[in-house]
Amino acid sequence: MTRKYTGQCACGTVRIEAVGEPVAELHCQCRHCQLRSGTGHSSFLVFDKPGTVKIDGETRNWTVVADSGNEKHQAFCPDCGTPTHVTFAASPDVTAISPSLLDRPGQFMPKLVTYASSAVPWDAQEPLLARFDKLPTS
Ligand SMILES: [Zn+2]
Ligand SMILES: [Zn+2]
Repeated sequence: MTRKYTGQCACGTVRIEAVGEPVAELHCQCRHCQLRSGTGHSSFLVFDKPGTVKIDGETRNWTVVADSGNEKHQAFCPDCGTPTHVTFAASPDVTAISPSLLDRPGQFMPKLVTYASSAVPWDAQEPLLARFDKLPTS
């Protein structure tokens, strides 16, 4: 059965829809994810098939350079500031959406933690999740 994810930002201006299987579901504790979330990590549902994720409504971006040297575009709702999704200059088919947006947040099933090496002590994660100092090497 094909999975379908729908959701919206805090003010409802940006709607998001994804159909298909996420390739990764994770918490990221890198410094950028701490800054963008206002807490110890950001969480992502990652899709890698072209056309899987539809964004309805205008978003704005800010850009950071990842450890790989490639740019990551951090999209947010210009009205309410909710971080909505991340896209990657080097991987145009990949979109990582914020699970907090989901109409059914319980659909998010995190499997791993990235950049655990920069975790802050007050942001403990479920000990059963696979932890990576930086990114998983595959
Ligand atoms: Zn909004
Ligand atoms: Zn991160």
